[in-house]
Amino acid sequence: MTGLPLNRCTGCGHAQFPPGLLCAACHGAEFDTVTASAGTIVTLTSWTTSGQALQFAEVETDVGPTVVALIAGEEATPGANVAFSSTTWPMAHTHTGDEPGKETES
Ligand SMILES: [Zn+2]
Repeated sequence: MTGLPLNRCTGCGHAQFPPGLLCAACHGAEFDTVTASAGTIVTLTSWTTSGQALQFAEVETDVGPTVVALIAGEEATPGANVAFSSTTWPMAHTHTGDEPGKETES
């Protein structure tokens, strides 16, 4: 199973990440799980450590909440669609090759 599991309040439907003891919207304490499979990059931060370049992005998930994810794969750009692939740490994969005609501007 791929995707990022999020807690969704059974009282009001608010989804949140990371999980909390109480719903941030209505303070309810009952949750079920909803899986975010994809999202859109809002902002990007690049970080180089030990000679390795990492990209972290704020990703607005398809179920609502915005999460910070490690970007795997091609260099990402804001507005790009990504797919979540890890359930331990949010990891988002850039889609490549499925947007014909899209070129990197230099
Ligand atoms: Zn709620």
